[in-house]
Amino acid sequence: MRMKQIIYADNAATTELDMIAFEAMKPLLLNEYGNASQPYSFGRSARQAVKEARQQIAACIGAQEHEVFFTSCGTESDNWVLNCFSNCESKKLIITSCIEHHAILKPCEAMPRSTKVVQLPVNRLGEISCNDLEKTLERELNHADYSGNVLVSIMYANNEIGTIQPIKELSQIAHSHGALFHTDAVQAVGHVSIDVKDLDVDFLSASAHKFNGPKGIGFLFVKQGIPFHPMIYGGAQESKMRAGTENVASIVGMSVALKNNTDEIAKNADSIHNLEKRLIERIEEANLDFVRNGSLNHVPGNVNLSFKNSDGEMILHRLDLKGICISTGSACDSINTQVSHVIKAIGVPDDYSRGTIRVSLGKNNTLEEIDAIADAIISIFKRNRVINADMT
Ligand code: PLP
Repeated sequence: MRMKQIIYADNAATTELDMIAFEAMKPLLLNEYGNASQPYSFGRSARQAVKEARQQIAACIGAQEHEVFFTSCGTESDNWVLNCFSNCESKKLIITSCIEHHAILKPCEAMPRSTKVVQLPVNRLGEISCNDLEKTLERELNHADYSGNVLVSIMYANNEIGTIQPIKELSQIAHSHGALFHTDAVQAVGHVSIDVKDLDVDFLSASAHKFNGPKGIGFLFVKQGIPFHPMIYGGAQESKMRAGTENVASIVGMSVALKNNTDEIAKNADSIHNLEKRLIERIEEANLDFVRNGSLNHVPGNVNLSFKNSDGEMILHRLDLKGICISTGSACDSINTQVSHVIKAIGVPDDYSRGTIRVSLGKNNTLEEIDAIADAIISIFKRNRVINADMT
């Protein structure tokens, strides 16, 4: 059965699998299905495929091969860092932000009482201030003795509004106070250049389905020498840090997709920027009353808009009827119709916040699609105006 023609503009939720990644996965699923832990040559070729994928991923982010651990998704990578940090009884401190993904916020809520969690605020653009981190660390470390058990976890780029944080500076501040630094880079990897050595982060989370790789696979970068506990126990896979037979095909698909996107980061960012510009121009020309959320320094393609006296859910469903996929807040909680924690945190005025949508464009979107999205949004508002006028 063929799917009806859709315009996919929800690339922050997930992305289309690159054909080149799919082609690389196919033989591993169909023919070369040996267990990577087995000593015979059929297993050895799977093991070699995993090794080469790890090398390729490490090269894409400036890491060493043994610093890359495969996981099942970004959520698992985030949970691994937080849980491993909290797994002994001594007093701990986690400093994070109020606009993190639930993959960070929920495990923080579940921390034992011995772990104190502090959330940093953001400004109207969704930016975290280095000064706030500095002051928070000074205040907390003066107040209690955490014996070096301090973790700062700040996302690289926000999934709702796209704002990119000053990760290198934040990491330096954390380190200067003896804290470890983790960044949830799920929205950034494959879309902006990342060099973990230059950023000097201790941990970095990523997820393949956000950069045109397969779903159900991700990775965690762990800087060499950083104290770290296994995710799950069992076999000797992932240097005994995450047991379980490797998802060889997905690991390979992820490495091919990441290399493909990394090679084309500047070209993709350029063309996506033009699409964004066109969408904003078209909506502005139509004189719709809206604000654009997020910082100018954002992940390519993230267009978060709040329309005055509107309803994001209504816009989403009307666009859906026209075959256009967008999101209202975070895709992960699209069942939830409340204004998201991110839109609240950046202080979008009440008469705009309920009318928030996120259009997230990707490398496969075209100018024709942007025009169709703009036409559809404009027609929703024009139609609403007519209905409202009829009723008065
Ligand atoms: N972190 C961020 C910033 C995200 O945007 C997402 C997914 O939307 C995740 C973590 C979770 O990633 P995954 O879907 O791979 O579990």
